[in-house]
Amino acid sequence: MIVVMDRRSSREHVDHVVALLDEMGVRAHVINGTAHRMVELLEVGGRFDRGRVERAPMVDKVLDGPVPILAAGRTAGGEADRTIEVPLGRRGVIGGRKLGVIAGPCSVESEDRLMEVAAAVASAGAVGLRGGAFKPRTSPYSFQGHEDRALEMLARAREATGLAIVTEVTCPEQVRRVQPYADVLQVGSRNMHNSALLKAVGGQERPVLLKRGWCASLEEFLFAAEYVMHAGNGNVILCERGIRSYEAYVRNTLALAVVPEVKRVSNLPIIVDPSHGTGRAHLVTPMSRAAVACGADGLLVEVHTAPDQAWSDGQQSLRVDEFQALMKGLGPLADVCGRTL
Ligand code: PEP
Ligand code: MN
Repeated sequence: MIVVMDRRSSREHVDHVVALLDEMGVRAHVINGTAHRMVELLEVGGRFDRGRVERAPMVDKVLDGPVPILAAGRTAGGEADRTIEVPLGRRGVIGGRKLGVIAGPCSVESEDRLMEVAAAVASAGAVGLRGGAFKPRTSPYSFQGHEDRALEMLARAREATGLAIVTEVTCPEQVRRVQPYADVLQVGSRNMHNSALLKAVGGQERPVLLKRGWCASLEEFLFAAEYVMHAGNGNVILCERGIRSYEAYVRNTLALAVVPEVKRVSNLPIIVDPSHGTGRAHLVTPMSRAAVACGADGLLVEVHTAPDQAWSDGQQSLRVDEFQALMKGLGPLADVCGRTL
């Protein structure tokens, strides 16, 4: 059983509930987090009086089952009809009326290539530049990223273009190291279940781009967001990037129905990654359009100046001219969907 405190409650209100439970012979455990204060009842005996607890000052509710989605839930913060707007560097937000497109190479390769692609995606209308410095590759024999050298290249690309930098952290120790160079910290699909990393990105102030685990349910995805929010960081952008299925013509199965479902149950913004979501460059443009049509707040797209020479994920990267064409076509579509680009 869980006592959920009102969002306006203070430490003293929690202490009062704990004392009340103590009087009733109930052993309790305080769940500390900034999103919601809660008290978990560990052993409930015969002297437990639920009504008295429910009537205590600043008690919101007493739940019988496990804690449901709270911080990432639709009514969290009392603004049921509004998507949370997450800042994206100096240029924009993800989650407003305007769609936010983040584009760039899978991994940072050379400075020349990064600068070239950054300038191209910026002039096509992207607001963020993606690029992996620490690459969580499936095989240990694949390119693992240029690490700190890549972070410095990303920072120079931000300087040159004004684009917000979105890059991945793969373990808690990297968070402080990456933070000065990044505007948004990405948690990748392989790490969505890594609660130590979720707590680490939740304990700092940069917005977090949280990718859906490739075998995660929507509930697990939202609970991962709750880890970040519970640790103190409410600026979470969800990213649907496909889940594993038996299909072989795609790398992952892009589960777009999750977008309107997230909108129904949560206030968090959600963007779509059609690159990892399909693994095939020719599917990226149609699925980007589909993502916008079903209500996504933006896109995360892999773009490369020469995909056939890319060190990672070339088969799913758009060429620059393809990305420009995609962006051009998204304008009128955004319009129809009540959004702007
Ligand atoms: C990425 O976006 O660079 C990436 C590795 O994607 P995912 O975590 O979705 O596999
Ligand atoms: Mn990639």
